[in-house]
Amino acid sequence: MAAHNRSVPTPASDDAFAEVKAKVDLVKIVQEYVRLTKRNKDFWGLCPFHQEDSPSFHVNPQRQSWYCFGCERKGDVFTFVELVEKTDKRGALQLLAERAGVELKKLSPEQKERADSRRRLLAMLKLAAQYYEYVLWSTPAGEKGRRLLAEREVDEAIARRFQLGYSPAGLGFAEYLRAKKRSLADAQDAGLLRRDGNDFFAERLVIPIRDERGQPLAFTARTVRTDEQRKYINSPETPAYVKGRVIFGLDLARDEIARRGHAVLMEGQFDVIAAHKAGIQNTVASSGTALTDDQVRLLKRFTDEVLLVFDADRAGRQAAQKAVLLAAAHQMRTRVATVTGAKDPDEFLRAAGADAAKQWEELAAKAPTGFEFGMEDAAAGLNLSNANHVELAARRLREWIAQFPATLQEDYRERAKRWMGVSGHLLAAEPDERRSMSRQAVSGAGMNGLESVQAGKKVTVGRYLLQLLAVRPVAFDRVRTKITPDELDEEDRGIYIRMLETYERGGASGLEMEMAGYPAEEQDLIRRAWAAPPPNVDEEVAVELAERIRLDHMRGRHSGIIRELSEAERGKDAERVARLEAEARELFRAIIDMERRG
Ligand SMILES: [Zn+2]
Repeated sequence: MAAHNRSVPTPASDDAFAEVKAKVDLVKIVQEYVRLTKRNKDFWGLCPFHQEDSPSFHVNPQRQSWYCFGCERKGDVFTFVELVEKTDKRGALQLLAERAGVELKKLSPEQKERADSRRRLLAMLKLAAQYYEYVLWSTPAGEKGRRLLAEREVDEAIARRFQLGYSPAGLGFAEYLRAKKRSLADAQDAGLLRRDGNDFFAERLVIPIRDERGQPLAFTARTVRTDEQRKYINSPETPAYVKGRVIFGLDLARDEIARRGHAVLMEGQFDVIAAHKAGIQNTVASSGTALTDDQVRLLKRFTDEVLLVFDADRAGRQAAQKAVLLAAAHQMRTRVATVTGAKDPDEFLRAAGADAAKQWEELAAKAPTGFEFGMEDAAAGLNLSNANHVELAARRLREWIAQFPATLQEDYRERAKRWMGVSGHLLAAEPDERRSMSRQAVSGAGMNGLESVQAGKKVTVGRYLLQLLAVRPVAFDRVRTKITPDELDEEDRGIYIRMLETYERGGASGLEMEMAGYPAEEQDLIRRAWAAPPPNVDEEVAVELAERIRLDHMRGRHSGIIRELSEAERGKDAERVARLEAEARELFRAIIDMERRG
């Protein structure tokens, strides 16, 4: 018998996924987290991913797939474990492989060597963090570090939470390693020692950069000397640490992020420390770089919304806009808070003293959405009663909007129009900015199984759904829970209602019996669908079509409300404005939610 291999599989392990999937039973895995009840062949339970009182979480054992009718999350056993364990695909594979006793693909000697060296580095980094922390609090050499913390108003309790430490001058760490009979070479590889054995971070306050599970991967270190040019230095990249993949403070913030439903992203480590001290414990920082793709992906495992806090200067505003776009590309919602009257959040929170949490709440409450933030920035310094300025602002807004995912652009144009009070054509997309096709035509993007429908054929989503229902009436069971007839276009509504009634009376074979009583053009549509069925008549596709129709309907309603709102504003009808604004906001949120899940 081969030994059980616990190391992470190589990237090219599609086989491993297939093998593990074949050996585990989704129902059993889900049952470890959710109480399931069997109904016919399927299982139902309370969804672990959203709050609910009646079960809408559905597991299909034949297909080994799950779907929640409430929050519309879905997937297979890997997706389930990913979400429920807040891990990634590899992590899910690892967990499931262990549970199922599946041996993951053997690593090559090279890969094994790399994995071993990474393990050694991680152990060394952990040891270093402990050593620095000990020096800071328990030795005379730590005095300089303690003084710096006192200046920064960081008390011992909060410093220990972040495991701050102090690296003394000289050969302190090397001697410590020798005494413990540990490898100096490993410490050099981990970026902790210079070639001469001197401590890399000598005479600096050391801040561990830990992963989301609390394992130190690197350090950033601030000098305590006034004559030192380089205020901060960072660990080099190592097999254990890739810059731009770690989020500082995530290990401490993750529970609070889940509880509050959003993360607060700041720039500096001391900002995060001050925030946690002030009780804003869902705060993290993108460490060492501007926010990266990998960091957004990591954050998205914990939340869909992030409040960005950047410095109020130009560089800060630009960084904020980049972060907004990056987050939007990953379907994350953003808001942007600007700290005023202080150079950074650390200073702001310290100046507020005991009042910090309250002042922070006020600041956060005022934060515009990421889109609005960029919109305000585009028009900053311009006089919108001057025609030239209006044109310039409109051009900047067009550019801003064009950088968002296509699904958001139409709504953003609507909002920009309303906000600026300019006529529509100024904000209409330029031909080269136009990425999305006509809203009513079926576009392949994002619609499973629909790629084969050419937009050129002008099959509307509604028509496609009707054809599908004609061929596969049982799909009504799902579709009717998704949409109401009034969400369909007028021309599709009549036949939809008729077919639904037929199905309710006569089941799957009802249509053949009752069709003779249908208007001629409806009979025609049904016959043609039977003769040449649409490319995919899967129930999942039916559900997607229904959701798409629903979304279009919501977007239409939203635009309508926005129009009505302008009217109400002109009429100075404050009560109606407030009501419409609330309605628009709610609807917009629902739209974003749907788009996110789609
Ligand atoms: Zn759910």
